[in-house]
This record gives sequence, structure tokens and C-alpha cells, in this order.
Amino acid sequence: MKLRHKAKTLNKKTYYNISTDRYYQSPTFFKKFLSCEAEAFAELQLNYKPDSDSTPLIVGNYLHSYFESSKAHQAFIDQHKSDIVTRSGTLRAPYQQAETMIDTLSSDKMFKKLYKGRKEVIVRGKINDIDWKGKIDCLNLERGYFIDLKTTRDINKKYWNNDEHSWESFVAAYNYQLQMYVYQQLIYQQYGVMCVPYIVAVTKEKVPAKAIISISDERLQEAEYQIDGVQEHIEDVRNGIVKPTRCEHCDYCKSTAILNDIVDMDDLIE
Ligand SMILES: [Zn+2]
Repeated sequence: MKLRHKAKTLNKKTYYNISTDRYYQSPTFFKKFLSCEAEAFAELQLNYKPDSDSTPLIVGNYLHSYFESSKAHQAFIDQHKSDIVTRSGTLRAPYQQAETMIDTLSSDKMFKKLYKGRKEVIVRGKINDIDWKGKIDCLNLERGYFIDLKTTRDINKKYWNNDEHSWESFVAAYNYQLQMYVYQQLIYQQYGVMCVPYIVAVTKEKVPAKAIISISDERLQEAEYQIDGVQEHIEDVRNGIVKPTRCEHCDYCKSTAILNDIVDMDDLIE
């Protein structure tokens, strides 16, 4: 059964709808397929909703909307009032933290100079003939760059990569270079400008740290190779041609697992 029918209208309202995720590939879903095909496929088929504590997501969007415009921020607060504000009218703790993060960035001269351009720009285009979508936090075509805002635990935290047997940064651990590569390509296809990608990171620490992060050409190329290498297979899975592989570690796989084997104690760790 083919999942995709016709191009879905892509706008601010539909961007996060699963119906547009069925038609368009996106860095978010591509990474979901890389980590567990079974979970990503079930989510697309509406057979599974990831059990995510929505607070970090709302906090992230609270921060994003602030830097989008005061109108967008107010609309966001009105929409999520009960999550954000207590009955007595004070901000709940995660949003007080978000305010500290906002202050950290908005009081910074270099950030203020850099974070100029169109905000929350939806882009679309093709990578290897497949339709992709993206949403750019800040796009400055005139000066030739775009920015993605990231909130993270600790800018210098080391993440262990078991495949490479090496430590890596949060940027690599979350494969943000793939997102940046895709956005760069989609912007180029839509506007004809090859933009430089930057990540502006701010931490969720009590005293937030901040950084402007560049992505090297090698990293962008690495992302290109990764997409080229697995996109065809992922398309077959998305279209129901190939059975999705289970990772057996994620919440979806755990929740649908059936005991049918006995494991030796020495085979428990990889
Ligand atoms: Zn899984």
C-alpha cells in the first residue's frame, strides 16, 4: 500500500501534521527511521504515538516563538496558557527557566546582530527525487546564512558513539548536521542562494551557556552520503514495500515485544 497520494498543502498550520509527514520526508522523520524503522512506520500509520513528556517540546516552542515575533509569542502563550501559567498567574518553573534562556540570548550583542531575517520559513524541495520539507528558524538570504535555535543540556557534553567507538558532541549525537544539510539544499532549491548554516545553542542549565556553532563542509558531506546511502531503503519502508526493521530497544519495540527466546548472561551487553 502506498502511503503517499498527492502533495499536501504545506503551511504553518499543517507543517506538523502527520498527513504532511506522510507526503514529505523531513530531517525529523528521516532520523526517526534511522533509529527505528518499526517505530517511525507505526507513527506514520497512526498505530503509535510516541509517549513524550510534552513539556520540553512546549518549552522549546516557547523560546522559538519569542524570537519569531511578539505576536507569535503571545499567540503561543494564549494557546498553552494552562501549561505555562499557574492558577495564581505566575510562570511555571520550566518557563521561568525558558525566560532565563531567552534573556541569555536577547541580551547578547552578537546574537542580536546575527538573528535577523525571516523567521519560521517553510521550505520544500527534492533530495534524490524525494520531496522533503523543512522549517527555518531564521533565514537571511541577503547575508547568505540561516540559523537553527537549539536548546540543550550542556554545550560541551560528550556522547559515546558505539558504532564509531568515539566520543562526539551533542550536534553529532543528534545528527543535526543532517538537518542543516537538508535545509541548506532546500533553501538553495527554493531561493537559489547557498546559505551557510549556523546553530545557536543555549543550555537548560541554571545559568545558561550559549554558543554559535558552524558545521564544516566535511560534516555536511557526511550527511549527504548518509542520505544517499539509505534513502532508497527508507522510501521502500515508508511505502510499505519493505518490512520495517525493529530496533528492539525503543519504547515502541518494547511495548510490542513478545518473549520467545532465552538470552545468555554474557550476551546482554553489546
Ligand atoms: Zn524500535
